[in-house]
Amino acid sequence: MRFWRQLRWRLVAAQIIVIIVGVIVLAWVANAIAARTFLTDLQPLLAMLLDDTTPIDAQQISTELLASFRHTVGQALLVAALAATVAGLLTSLLLMREILRPLHQIARSSQRIAAGHYDERVATPSSDELAAVADNFNLMAAALEQVEQQRIALIGNVAHELRTPLAGLEGYLEGLVDGVFPSEPETLSSMQREVRRLHRLVDDLQALSRVEAGQVSLHMSRFDLLPLVQRIVTQLQPQASAQNIDLQMTDPDQPLLVHADPDRAAQVLLNLIGNAIRYTPEGGSITVRLATADSMALVEVVDTGIGIPSEALPYIFERFYRVDRSRARSSGGSGIGLTIARHLAWAMGGELTAASAGLGQGSTFHFTLPLDRGDP
Ligand code: ADP
Repeated sequence: MRFWRQLRWRLVAAQIIVIIVGVIVLAWVANAIAARTFLTDLQPLLAMLLDDTTPIDAQQISTELLASFRHTVGQALLVAALAATVAGLLTSLLLMREILRPLHQIARSSQRIAAGHYDERVATPSSDELAAVADNFNLMAAALEQVEQQRIALIGNVAHELRTPLAGLEGYLEGLVDGVFPSEPETLSSMQREVRRLHRLVDDLQALSRVEAGQVSLHMSRFDLLPLVQRIVTQLQPQASAQNIDLQMTDPDQPLLVHADPDRAAQVLLNLIGNAIRYTPEGGSITVRLATADSMALVEVVDTGIGIPSEALPYIFERFYRVDRSRARSSGGSGIGLTIARHLAWAMGGELTAASAGLGQGSTFHFTLPLDRGDP
C-alpha cells in the first residue's frame, strides 16, 4: 500500500497502536481483574448485609463501596498504563530501528566516501522519505565518483600531453650532446618549436582551469559583432591564403548588437576559424555567416574540410579530445581549444555547438551570443 510506505503514516500508526493497546488492556483488566477485585473487596460488606444480627450502617456501606471502587479503578489503570507503556516502547523500538538503520548506514557510507571509497552506495529503505534521502545520497556519491575519475583522467592526459614535446626536446638534446645533430639554427629552431608547444599547452591548461572553475573575468559590454568578426577574418586571411583556402564572410541584414565580452568573443571566433583552416585541405572554403536566431546573435563557421564523424561529435568539446590524434598533434592541437571556447560562450550567456554530415563532408560550428535588448 502506497501510504504505508510513508514515514509520517507509520508514525501516526505507531501512536494509534499504543492507544488501541491501552484501551484493549484497560477493557480486559476491567473485566478480568477489576470485577474480581471488586467482588473480593465486597465480600465483608456482603457478609455484613446477610448477617441479620448486625445492624445496617448506611454510612459505613457507602464508605466501603467508595473505597472498593477507588481500589479497583486504581489497579485497572495501573495495569493498563504498564501494558500501554510496554506496547509504546515496542512500537517505538521497531520504528527507531526502521529510521536509525538507514541513517547509520548513510553516516557510515559518508565516512567511507570521505576516506576515498567513491564507489560506496547505500541500500534504499522501504519508507518513501528515507528512500529519497538514500537515493539523493547515492546520486551525490555517483557525482563525486565521476569528478574523481575526471580528475584522474585529467592528470593522465596532462602527463601524456607533456610527454610529446618533452620527448622531442630530449631527442634533440641527446642528438646535440652525441654530435648526431649539428648545433645549427635549424636544430635550435626545432627545439624552440617544442618549447613553444610546451608553453602553449601550459597556457591552455591554465585557461582551462580558470574557465572550468568559473573564474574567468568578463568585461561585458554592448558592441556590434560585425566589425569584430571582420577583424578576425582579416587577421586569419593570410593563413587561409597560404593554404589556398577561400575564407569569406556574409554580412548580416542589420547590425548585430550583442551584450558580451569582445575579447572573449574574439578568442572563441579565433579558435573556430583557426580550427576550420587547420582541418580544411587546400582548395577548400570557409564561410563565416552572421544572423539572428530568437533573441540571440548567431555566428556560423562553415567549412568544406575533413568533417567530423557522427560518433565523435558528442565528444569534441571534451578536454583533450581529438578525432584524429596523430593529425591534430602534428599540427600542435591539444584538444583543449573547443572546451575553453564552449565555457567562454556559456559564461557570456551564449552557446557553442557543432554539426557535420560526416567524414569528408565539412563541419559547421554555431556560436551564439545574447543580443543586447537595450536595457539600461
Ligand atoms: P585542437 O587544438 O586539437 O584543434 P580543439 O578543442 O580545438 O582542439 O578541437 C578538438 C577536436 O575537434 C580537434 O582535434 C578535431 O579533431 C575536431 N575539430 C575541431 N574543429 C574542427 C573542424 N572545423 N573540422 C573538423 N574537425 C574539427
